[in-house]
Parts: sequence; structure tokens; C-alpha cells
Amino acid sequence: VTAPETRAFEADVSKLLHMMVHSVYSDRDVFLRELISNAADACEKLRYEAISNPALLGDDPQARISLTLDKEAGTLVIEDNGIGMTAADMAETLGTIARSGTKAFMDKLAADKDGEGQQLIGQFGVGFYSAFMVAGKVEVVSRRAGEADAATWSSDGLGTYTIAPADPEAAPARGTRVTLHLLDDAKTYAERYTVERIVKAQSGHVPVPIFLHEAGSADEPRQVADGIALWTRAKSDISEDDYADFYRSVAGQFDKPALTLHYRAEGRHEYSVLTFIPETKPFDLFDPDRKGRIKLYVRRVFITDEAEILPRYLRFVRGLVDSADLALNMSREMIQDSPVLSAIQKGVSNRILSELAKLAASDPERYAAIWENFGPVIKEGLYEDYERRDQLLGLARFKSTTSNGTWRSLKDYMGSLKENQTAIYYATGNDLDRIAQSPQIEGFKARGIEVLLLPDQVDSFWTTMGVDYEGKPFKSVTQGAADLSLIPLAEGSSSAAAPSEEASSFIAFAKDALADHVSDVRISDRLTSSAVCIVAAENAMDLQLEKMLASAGR
Ligand code: ADP
Ligand code: MG
Repeated sequence: VTAPETRAFEADVSKLLHMMVHSVYSDRDVFLRELISNAADACEKLRYEAISNPALLGDDPQARISLTLDKEAGTLVIEDNGIGMTAADMAETLGTIARSGTKAFMDKLAADKDGEGQQLIGQFGVGFYSAFMVAGKVEVVSRRAGEADAATWSSDGLGTYTIAPADPEAAPARGTRVTLHLLDDAKTYAERYTVERIVKAQSGHVPVPIFLHEAGSADEPRQVADGIALWTRAKSDISEDDYADFYRSVAGQFDKPALTLHYRAEGRHEYSVLTFIPETKPFDLFDPDRKGRIKLYVRRVFITDEAEILPRYLRFVRGLVDSADLALNMSREMIQDSPVLSAIQKGVSNRILSELAKLAASDPERYAAIWENFGPVIKEGLYEDYERRDQLLGLARFKSTTSNGTWRSLKDYMGSLKENQTAIYYATGNDLDRIAQSPQIEGFKARGIEVLLLPDQVDSFWTTMGVDYEGKPFKSVTQGAADLSLIPLAEGSSSAAAPSEEASSFIAFAKDALADHVSDVRISDRLTSSAVCIVAAENAMDLQLEKMLASAGR
């Protein structure tokens, strides 16, 4: 730009901003975490680009974030010496909704009928625009590393923003300065006490040091976060709170980790791993791209979060891997194809699964809470990851006709097999209670045979893949003539009587009348109190799967 230009925000941004401006959300502190994390990201991007172009660092190689408070002016300034933005970068990233998280937030908001959008802000962390929760005006002055020109972006958050050339003298030599003109009811964010507290609580573990300075004070800026990568510290020096804070900043989550895994792999390949399983479902869990969010570092330099270190069915795991053997000057594409990365992918995936198995054995309740959230995702692995299928079946938990709402493992199931039972029986559907009531399982109940109740979409897929467990195949109760006659009825139950003459003539009549619609009509051992039920033919598609495919237009 050569002259100031005022532009309208993208429609979605306007909606989001409206929400921020009118926010009555109580935990406004999160805006600072968002801005600090952007500043830290910018420093990490520079560090990465400087590997191939060291000149970008100039005479200022040490990454830094500084916060300047001005009580008189009512401003809070967040400045970094990271990668910076050109005017074009600003128009692209600060006028649109670039990040998928924010998109997901908007979708959620659109679907939100009960006006709980305010709560959603806290769950999502909505990035840069959250500044408008506390500021009536936001100014961004930035200079992209290696560029001569600097630019200014400013907005009051009411529909338009302005981009203009910035005075090169007054702009940062490199990086970005964000100035928040605080709202009257947000002046506390110009106070040292408040800001220091928030930084320590939310951003104490970003990998860039943070300094705090008060305008008009003769004191040296004080360091409020040391910027030392948490994962490089000894486990014994890290508290649970440290891990939780780090988790929130690395994962962009606001909850706590349900499981933390921190270790160093040594031997053929050396790398550190710090990963977390969230306590609640991340909003992007069922995004169509099914992308993972594990960050890849090479000797403390952030490289990419697109390395797909874990299989997609573990995409809920957050955190990072820091490799000591990958070459820093490898391109991201070369890293993707490197054998070192494959070894890391394999090692970390196996370790996470084995940690889950350990937890399942040592603390079934905590494990059940994880399964409750992520079981439907992990089960995708049953059809995607043939090699680890047995391991995954070991981790799987199910509700069943005999479990009274508790989770059962397949091992539990095997322990309650009836004499002559040749298969693991299951019933699929959309709703647990409805499945439990379905007439197809009456005959099983009457014989005390446990039937797994599978309410998730994914269940209709993996069950058709010829899966077996310890030699017993999975068999849908809707498929074929379940051979129940060999298994005696439980005491006190009655089944349909042996075919009487009346029954036989009814069957002949029904076959005739329904000839165009069904392939067979027969007396069934499945039913005890219902008169009829529809089943799929042996080897035919499971009914639930058939319904799903039909509704998907197949
Ligand atoms: P996210 O950080 O998830 O991408 P944000 O809304 O927080 O989403 O930021 C949007 C984009 O604005 C960033 O991706 C980045 O490109 C740009 N940006 C924001 N702050 C900075 C900064 N301090 N330095 C460089 N770029 C920035
Ligand atoms: Mg951000």
C-alpha cells in the first residue's frame, strides 16, 4: 500500500467481531494468551526461515516478546521480533478467517440455538480477534523480516479495518507490535499485577522469553517467562500445573490433560516426546480433514504441525515431538519422506497405545473417561490400521446387554461366553437405548448371551471387515439365522414354540404375500416377545450400514 485503504471485513469476521465486541464472556483474560501465542508463533516461524536465510536475523538473533503497559494511556502493547507481516499479509490474515479453529467456532456458533456462544469463546480460543473483547481499537504495526517497508493495520472492530504504510522510524525493526486501546471496563489489563498473573498462568511455557515493562517507569523490563522449552527439562522438575499450562498453550485447549506422556527415546533415534490426551473433546475432532495436531520440532526449532506423526485415529492427542537426528536444513517435504520420521511415527504411536493399555489396566475409571470421549475415534483404527487391530481391540470398550451401562472389554466378553457360542454378537444403531430394545436381540437376551451395543457411526464399518477376537468372529444380530438353538434358554425365559401347523401355514402365506420384498420368512430363535423382526440375509450388509449408505445417497 502507498496510501491508507479502508476495507470491509469478510462477513464471517464481522459476525465474530460483533460477538467479541458485545462479549459478556467472563474469562476475557484469554485474549492475552492468544496474542502471546501469535507472537511466539511468529518467532518460531522466523527461527525456521533463518535456517536457510540467516541474514533475516540481522544483529538481533534472540527471539523476544515484550509487553508494555501504560496506565495513563490505557494501553497494552504486545511486541515480538518474529517474522512480521507485510501489508498484503495483514489484509490476508487479519481480515479473513484463516484458521480452521475459528471456522469451526463459527460453525458451532451458527448451530448454537440456546445462546451459549459466550461459553464457546472459552472452549475455542478464537485467535487474534479476541483482542476486541478488551479493546475498543487495535493497531498492528509490522515489518516482515528482510523487508524495508512497514505497514499498519487498525480497526475498531465495527465492520472495517484500515491498512496504511507505517513510518519506518516508528515501526519495529522486525516483527509486530500490537497496541490495544483498552475499553473502560478493561483497564486492569494495563496493570502489572494483572498482566503478570495472567502471563504466568497462561503463557509461562511458550518457547520464547517474555518481558514486562511499565511505561514511564525507570525500571528495567522484567522477565516474566523464561522461554525455556518445557520438554527439555527433567520430569522431576516439572509439576502437574506446569504440564497443564503447557498443554493449554501448545494445544489451544482450555481444559486439563487427561493423560500426559513425557519421555525421551534413545537408541537408534533420539527424540523427546511430550503429548497429552485432552480431558474434553476438541472442537475439530470430527473435521473432515481428520488432521492431527502434533508439532514437530528439530532441536527446539519448530518445523511443522503437518507431519502427521500419529495415525488419524489418534488425532485427539496434542503435543510435540522434538527430534535430535533430523537435519535442520531439510525441507518440510523431505522430512515427510524421511525414514527418521517414519521411525518416530511408529515409535510414538506404539508408545501412546501401550500407555493407554497400561492406564486401562491400572486405572479403569480414568481410562473409561478417555474412552468415553475418544473411543469413537480410536475405533476408526479398527478398519484403518490392520497391523494394530488386535492392540486396538484390546483397548476397545463396549456397552452391552448385560453390562448395566458400564464398559466391557472383549476380554470381559470372552469370559462370559455361553456354551456352544461361536461368535461375538453385536447390534448397531444410532441410540444405545433403542438398540438395547430392538427385537432382534430378544432371543439372545433369553439365552443370557451378551450382545455388544454399538451406537457409533464408525461401528457399521469396522464390524464388516471380517474382524475377529481370539478366534471368534463378530456377528451382527441382524445378519442371517443366528444359530441359537444350540444354546439353552436362560431359566424363566420362553421362546417361540416349535413350529406348529398354524405357524407353518402362516409362513407359507407370508412368503407368498411378501415375495417381492423379502428373500425368506422363517421361524426364529431370536424373538421371545415380539412377533416379527426383519433381519439381513447371511453375508448381506448389516441393516444399519445399509441405512447409512442409503442416506448417503449410495
Ligand atoms: P492462528 O494463530 O490460529 O493462525 P490468529 O487469529 O491468532 O489465528 O492469527 C491469524 C494470523 O495472523 C496468524 O496465522 C498470522 O499469520 C497472523 N498474525 C497474527 N499475529 C501475528 C504476529 N504477531 N506476527 C506475525 N503474524 C501474526
Ligand atoms: Mg493465534
